Amino acid sequence: MTATYLKTTFGDRLSVTLVESAQVSTIGVGEATFSTVRHFFDYLGLDEREWMPHCGGSYKLGIRFQDWRGPGHHFYHPFERLRVVDGFNVADWWLQIGDRSQPFDRQCYVTSALCEAKASPRAIGGSLFANELDGPLGRSTLAEQRDQFPYAYHFDAAKLAEFLTGYGVQRGVRHVTDDVVQIGQDERGWISHVTTKEHGELRGDLFIDCTGFRGLLINQTLGEQFESFQDVLPNNRAVALRVPKDQEREGMKPYTTATAMGAGWIWTIPLFGRDGTGYVYSDQYCTPEDAEATLRQYAAPGQDDLSANHIRMRIGRNQRSWVNNCVAIGLSSGFVEPLESTGIFFIQHGVEQLVRHFPDERFDQALIDAYNDRVNHVIDGVKEFLVLHYRAAQRDDTPYWKEAKVRPIPDGLAEKLTLASSLLLDEETIYPYYHGFELYSWVTMLLGLGHEPQTPRPALALADPAGAREEFARIEADAARIISTMPSCYDYLASIN
Ligand SMILES: Cc1cc2nc3c(=O)[nH]c(=O)nc-3n(C[C@H](O)[C@H](O)[C@H](O)COP(=O)(O)OP(=O)(O)OC[C@H]3O[C@@H](n4cnc5c(N)ncnc54)[C@H](O)[C@@H]3O)c2cc1C
Repeated sequence: MTATYLKTTFGDRLSVTLVESAQVSTIGVGEATFSTVRHFFDYLGLDEREWMPHCGGSYKLGIRFQDWRGPGHHFYHPFERLRVVDGFNVADWWLQIGDRSQPFDRQCYVTSALCEAKASPRAIGGSLFANELDGPLGRSTLAEQRDQFPYAYHFDAAKLAEFLTGYGVQRGVRHVTDDVVQIGQDERGWISHVTTKEHGELRGDLFIDCTGFRGLLINQTLGEQFESFQDVLPNNRAVALRVPKDQEREGMKPYTTATAMGAGWIWTIPLFGRDGTGYVYSDQYCTPEDAEATLRQYAAPGQDDLSANHIRMRIGRNQRSWVNNCVAIGLSSGFVEPLESTGIFFIQHGVEQLVRHFPDERFDQALIDAYNDRVNHVIDGVKEFLVLHYRAAQRDDTPYWKEAKVRPIPDGLAEKLTLASSLLLDEETIYPYYHGFELYSWVTMLLGLGHEPQTPRPALALADPAGAREEFARIEADAARIISTMPSCYDYLASIN
């Protein structure tokens, strides 16, 4: 992603060499994304029909949170902004006049209905259910996002990386398959070259560390401190399985599922042809053997031949992701566990910000500091949002979930939760810096998990609800119309595969 993005931006004016080892494998997971990943592909000029078939690509309309409020309960966190009526969003109105026998997300969003119907967001032929959002975003970035694009993708990250490598090489990226065995530094401690097994020394002005959790350049060579988030986000391991699926028969879910379990949660990510699944847990509460057994029973009973990938996770971020002439992007920079699928988003954000703060030979420290601030804000904002998931979840049936209710939480989040007991949060009370999640996401998680204000906004008791009633009826009608016209997710994806 980083190499192709830089090459697309700077063309022949910058030479880019991508070094990767054939011996050290990639992490082998990372399959769900944000809807804003669309900006990345459009920036490269890549149509989804071109790349999706290469990497099991499928649609993600949102995340289904299963059992976070208790067994059998579910809600969707969709990619859909809340409609606004008379100055109040429909979530506020729902608290005042909504039908409490129905889940809030199915009254406030059309996307939840598409998820339940396993519907495709695109019609055969390619048009999007929300016509006004159809059309390329051009060379725009995350910062320019004006409209909420209604879906993200699931894909096999390793296959996407292969596809992007081919794409980058065609446009002039030099691709070296080799092992970096040593890092050279000049007298200031800046990186001067990397030494590879077979290609000798590779020199450069700027080095991007994409070596994953190892942080070969940023941590092992430059010694940058890594700040762990384990005090507030205790999950430190995952075990993953790839499960073949007969989707023609079973259908295909256009969403990620995150199911709360005794010591963490399980992801289910439907790719075209198989599911990616994994149990994310804390080894304080569960052994790897028990986690694997739980995952197999949940996701692949009777398929004992499937091999499990056990992963230790480094949760947190570098104090600085850019040090001297080295910028860490990806897991080498930071990672806040897979809930809400933010790893690939961090990569996209990191590389976009790198372009924005790209240095000249002076390496102005102010640019570097500004870059580090942006990256830190994004990761810290996501941290806060994820801690909210565990704190607001209604489960307390195991030691893991009991502990989630009493563990210290970031100060900013404690204030927000106190406020949210009286008023739904608004744009000015969510995490103040850009971190990828908008108001609707915070509101969805609060109401979905059951952290409701004690009363609706008092102002709404005095306001005329007629407009809001009409809007709720419109949402229901829109959802019914879209479902009746869209093909199934499987049928559409089969048509482009
Ligand atoms: C359990 C889990 C689930 C995740 N799920 C999601 C998700 O659903 N959505 C999401 O957006 N993100 C997810 N992520 C994060 C996502 O996996 C990563 O952001 C993404 O795959 C990128 O990883 P990376 O390139 O930083 O590191 P890696 O995939 O680890 O790649 C490291 C690269 O460095 C190379 N390398 C290492 N050492 C050397 C050397 N000495 N010489 C040469 N090359 C070397 C390797 O060959 C490899 O190519 C998940 C992560 C985990 C741990």
